[in-house]
Amino acid sequence: MKKAFLSGWRREGLCRFLFAACEKEWERMSKIKRAYHYRFVPTDEQKTMLARTFGCCRYIYNWALNLKSASYRETGKSPGFAALCAMLPALKTQPETAWLAEVSSVPLQQSLRHLDRAFVNFFAGRASYPAFKKKHGPQSVTYTAAAFTWKDGQLTLAKTDGPLAIRWSRPLPDGATPSTISRDAVGRYFVSLLLEEEITPLPVSPERIGIDLGLTALVSTSGGEKVDNPKYLAQEEKKLARAQKRHAKKRKGSRNREKARRRVARIHARIRDKRRDYQHQLSTRLIRENQVICVESLAVKNMLQHPTLVKAIADVGWGEFLRQLEYKAQWYGRTLIKIDRWYPSSKTCSVCGEVLASLELDVREWTCRQCGTHHDRDLNAARSFLAEGLRVYAAEGSLQGSRNPHS
Ligand SMILES: [Zn+2]
Repeated sequence: MKKAFLSGWRREGLCRFLFAACEKEWERMSKIKRAYHYRFVPTDEQKTMLARTFGCCRYIYNWALNLKSASYRETGKSPGFAALCAMLPALKTQPETAWLAEVSSVPLQQSLRHLDRAFVNFFAGRASYPAFKKKHGPQSVTYTAAAFTWKDGQLTLAKTDGPLAIRWSRPLPDGATPSTISRDAVGRYFVSLLLEEEITPLPVSPERIGIDLGLTALVSTSGGEKVDNPKYLAQEEKKLARAQKRHAKKRKGSRNREKARRRVARIHARIRDKRRDYQHQLSTRLIRENQVICVESLAVKNMLQHPTLVKAIADVGWGEFLRQLEYKAQWYGRTLIKIDRWYPSSKTCSVCGEVLASLELDVREWTCRQCGTHHDRDLNAARSFLAEGLRVYAAEGSLQGSRNPHS
């Protein structure tokens, strides 16, 4: 046997350890910040004000990005958040940028904060170099509680006269603080409200699962289930191509071009919403049913460079799905184990641990030479992830266990 697979007593010990770990998690996590999004329909006055605010924030962001890049090239240093904030008043008094004074200064400062975070993410290797914000496409600005007034259940933005006409799709929980106003590519407006919430973890479940993410089946599980990948982009591809072609034909700057652009954006939004709904249902179910979920840590960004599969990979949305699993696991007291993406899950026999020298991508089924088990490629990968995940987890557990007499 090449891999140490868990024998009976080890498995039981592991179970006990998992339960102990969950109890700890239970105590640890109590409050989370959750964002609620509500759609609103602005008045003409608010629309104008918001358009101006989006424009000013974009200007400040791009101005600061330009300044930072240029001064880094010249001196090897660049001004930080505080220094940039200190330059804002001077900008407002200069005649060519005096219009900056017409909008609330809160979102302007917040866009400098966003830029700051973009650089932190860049230097931490999590993101690419910050890019300039564009006029077209989705816009968003961040306010703080100071830039809103909240009176009799009505929300009014700084420097506008009336409250926002919010469509309360669900009642607003007490204690929410407004944060972001956004306009999507379709032209719909949203306000998001942040709320600190207590989440009750789900009752501990004895189930553990390994999952393999794929293109034909979005998810294959160690329990033998295959969940369809609905391919929403592919479904709408013809409609989208037609709308894009129509958009490209319209004269630049014309009303009809703008209409055509919105039609394209609407199709994209529909695809995105459907995909997200589907992913939420699936991730919630997996989290609900299982205490431990073992999954491959994907480098989706690297895969998006794959020339022939790029569209299909973008359409399946693994990155977003993993993100949902991760935060839901944290919310509900589950354990998500991410397995190194170089682990040869498909090539490892989940029954005996034999590792194949190679397995071509188009081979969907294979038989293990060592133990004779006939495998479905994806289901076997899911089972290998489960075994590997539990092995990693047990190893970590025994490390921690040396300090804990109960495990
Ligand atoms: Zn085998």
